[in-house]
Amino acid sequence: MAARRPARLTRRQGLRLGLALPLVAARPAAPVVEVADGVFVLPGVDEEASAENLDAIANTGFILGAEAVAVVDPGGSLAHGQRLRAAVAAVTRRPIRHLILTHAHPDHVMGAAAFAECGAEVIGHARLPLALAQRGPYDLRMLERAMGAAAVGSGALAPTRLVQDRLSLDLGGREVLLQAHPPAHTDQDLTVLDAATRSLWTGDLLFIDRIPALEGSLLGWLAVLERLRAMPAARAVPGHGPPAAVWLEAAEALTRYLVALRDGTRAALRAGIGIAEAPGRVAVAESRAWRLAEAYHGRNVTAAYRELEWE
Ligand SMILES: [Zn+2]
Repeated sequence: MAARRPARLTRRQGLRLGLALPLVAARPAAPVVEVADGVFVLPGVDEEASAENLDAIANTGFILGAEAVAVVDPGGSLAHGQRLRAAVAAVTRRPIRHLILTHAHPDHVMGAAAFAECGAEVIGHARLPLALAQRGPYDLRMLERAMGAAAVGSGALAPTRLVQDRLSLDLGGREVLLQAHPPAHTDQDLTVLDAATRSLWTGDLLFIDRIPALEGSLLGWLAVLERLRAMPAARAVPGHGPPAAVWLEAAEALTRYLVALRDGTRAALRAGIGIAEAPGRVAVAESRAWRLAEAYHGRNVTAAYRELEWE
């Protein structure tokens, strides 16, 4: 099947939709952090997307090689993507050859439009094109609702190179290893390991502080975390949370939450608790340790219930 071009909001569409100018000015960008030699992160904020934060809510960044740059996730809006491009330009004149999309969620991909003219190949999981085609138009409408006119120009780019299993990139004496995973956070999760510094970009397979969002498979996510534990990594760059954290410790809280979700949902199913009641009964205490739990925990329980009721 030919890949469909992901949706992108044009200025004309924005005007037709009558998008209002944002009432609040965008906040100044957080400074870029070099978490390891040549590994740069623009930290995201633990908030929902807004005109003020420019949907810069996920960690994004880049890896600098002797010959080229690989960007990992362009962020949630055109404006954020432009910030990231400027952050690269402030560090190096080497070309951005690879734009890696860790999965299809809008806070990770909508800034890709800022990289449309830079000549980089766009790399994603083999299932990414379908996910972008299916959810792109809806995600853009939600971004417009959250950001107003500040969303204009935002959009993902169609991948030009797909990862079925593994892919190695050479940035000039610097190897970057991409791994495609079975369904976990989503069904198109891709991780990026910088071999030189043993830094593992997890995408949203790792959340710290901000409550995880379950979309792919709860049992699959726990299995993928096991697999990630075997990777030769010293630090993780999580999709949400601090710009970097000590690996494996960084995955402990997430694993505890997912196990509580699994065991609590199984217990609810055994007790005959219905899907409508389950969010108020399953892993409620564990959810309180996370930011934005009120927005996502109930959805996570519902997703877990739908998955585990067929066991
Ligand atoms: Zn995500």
